[in-house]
Amino acid sequence: MNIAYRFRIYPTEEQKILLGKTFGCCRFLYNQMLNDKIREYDKTKKMLKNTPAMYKREYPFLKEVDSLALANVQLHLEKAYKNFFRDPKTGFPRFKSKHHSRNSYTTNVVNGNILVESKKIRLPKLKWIAMKKHREPAEGLRLKSVTVSMEPSGKYFASLLYEGYSCENQAAEPDYSTAKILGIDYAMQGMAVFSEKIETEEAGFFRKNEKRLAREQRKLSRCVRGSHNYELQKKKVARCHEKIRNKRRDHLHKLSRKIADSYDAVAVEDIDMKAMGQCMHFGKSVQDNGYGLFREMLDYKLAWQGKKMVKVDRFFPSSKKCCKCGRIKKELKLSERVYHCECGNEMDRDRNAAINIREEARRMLTA
Ligand SMILES: [Zn+2]
Repeated sequence: MNIAYRFRIYPTEEQKILLGKTFGCCRFLYNQMLNDKIREYDKTKKMLKNTPAMYKREYPFLKEVDSLALANVQLHLEKAYKNFFRDPKTGFPRFKSKHHSRNSYTTNVVNGNILVESKKIRLPKLKWIAMKKHREPAEGLRLKSVTVSMEPSGKYFASLLYEGYSCENQAAEPDYSTAKILGIDYAMQGMAVFSEKIETEEAGFFRKNEKRLAREQRKLSRCVRGSHNYELQKKKVARCHEKIRNKRRDHLHKLSRKIADSYDAVAVEDIDMKAMGQCMHFGKSVQDNGYGLFREMLDYKLAWQGKKMVKVDRFFPSSKKCCKCGRIKKELKLSERVYHCECGNEMDRDRNAAINIREEARRMLTA
């Protein structure tokens, strides 16, 4: 069981230079190793077993950066390569470009080489970096690895991955026939509809900031590409994006925390979020509204307390069934936003579905 905490870090100018070198060396090594693997594959149809050590001789500058970061490059590449051979649909590993790939690297905890204190973190080769630790990791966790990244806006972050959880967090198994279960239906427009009302901060922030983002993007489109103003405006747009993304993540953390704390179990539809994003045209909105991210957060927060996330079969007629009398409609158009039933039940279509999902989970848990 792993849990990640992401904190902003404030490297000095000197540290920024070394971080930049590390990002660059990782990218360089990745591309070199991939290139050699491709050549070997073309010749022999086999995977070349290459290691960072083989490149350090030829490119001594690789020795200047954290060697664990380079070891992780090898692991990442091998994983991408294996994924490709197992499932060619995932695509062949691609070269990392300086302009379009993420600036990041991952390093591991080995013999106390990484230390975390209240306002700083010590990383291999970098010594102490100031860090804003806005919350305390739960107790009984062991730090496994740290991923350092630089966002397009120029801000730096450290994502700390911890493992392990203590059994003291586990709740006793409740009586599911009366337990508090929350049903969640995935709704295209919003993000998710719950089987009962959950008070959340309203989405006003996003609307306001999305308007601002649109305005800054329009300004960018009027700038001359490559000009000084263009670069400045590009940074502004990136900062806008980042602000929205952070706020959204924060909101999802709070919401999932609230649900995991106040319910005994959660029921969702068994939909493959990845497949959904890939094969349907609304991929962008699925990513944007963060339903997948939300489900992931909720899943580990529940597991943390020994609670269950129940997945209801995707062929279960959650939308067509009346949650009051159990009648199942033969047809329900997507345009029908309100569910009407002969029994007199009239309610929001997604709310009706969420209640059905909740009750189906209750049936599964008590069966
Ligand atoms: Zn009915």
